Amino acid sequence: MAIGDHVSSNFGHEGWDPPEDYSEFRGDGGGGGGGGGSRGPYRFKLPVPEKNPIERNKPARKRVMIIGAPFYLWEHGTYKVPNVPKGIFNAICLRQNKISDSCALCDGKFWPSYAAYFTVIDLGFVRYDPAGGATLFPEPWVDKEGKQRESQFQRRLMVAKKGGKDKPGKLAYFEDQRNRRGGDLTGCVFDTVRMGLKEPTIGETWEFVERVGSAVPATIADMQAYLIDLGATPADVEKDYFFQRFTIRDMESSLLFTSEELAQWTGVSGAGAAGHPADGRSVRSTRTEGAGFEDGGQFRDDPDYRGGPGNGENW
Ligand SMILES: [Zn+2]
Repeated sequence: MAIGDHVSSNFGHEGWDPPEDYSEFRGDGGGGGGGGGSRGPYRFKLPVPEKNPIERNKPARKRVMIIGAPFYLWEHGTYKVPNVPKGIFNAICLRQNKISDSCALCDGKFWPSYAAYFTVIDLGFVRYDPAGGATLFPEPWVDKEGKQRESQFQRRLMVAKKGGKDKPGKLAYFEDQRNRRGGDLTGCVFDTVRMGLKEPTIGETWEFVERVGSAVPATIADMQAYLIDLGATPADVEKDYFFQRFTIRDMESSLLFTSEELAQWTGVSGAGAAGHPADGRSVRSTRTEGAGFEDGGQFRDDPDYRGGPGNGENW
């Protein structure tokens, strides 16, 4: 998908219909995120079969519950940007989101992707039992002290790319599902499978499992009850933030960089800098997974788990 081949801008919008204007965001203290610290919300993703911790070498399957409408954003994956600081996997596109007239990553032909950012509850890996049932294995995680923890269900940011007309990304699936299911996916539970490295890290094949409760959209009480039924500790899922959707604010503090900062990554600004992207290493579309490891994750340093080179072609 080339720049220009996209729907109208709708940066920071929440809901299903992209807005025309997102001036609320512009001028709101841009340029943050150059330092260390948070890299944005932890993203929902699936490992390749080789890294499936539940059934080694079999396609990984996970179950998620969507907890609200998405926001939309143009974002660069930075996997192939030559001088990107360690630990940064994504950057907000300054040009396409109309934050600035110039975006050094776009100038370097590192094309951004347009995507919807959903908030989901990761219910863990799924193993179908021969008898017909299914068992959930919440993903273990590593806390700030480096200790592996038994997981509770985790709130995650799930990125569904729009893709192109001839090759839509996963967003097309969710738009279709929304139309089929009363116009709202809140409380809808899905299984998703990732068969290999070049499939999207959120999984290629999605299956609707059920909708929680009977209301459209599902209520928070219904979703809480559902998770408690699955074994969640009530005190955890009753916390105020547990069903709070991520917003553009969660992105801007960690993934919004200045054009100057971006230029340093591409090497365009430095005289004679190596690795100029004009040497043919441009990427048509980019990875957007991998940011936000502040709350741990056992695969955090495993490039295969995050998708690896080439993955971005296949959203
Ligand atoms: Zn850009």
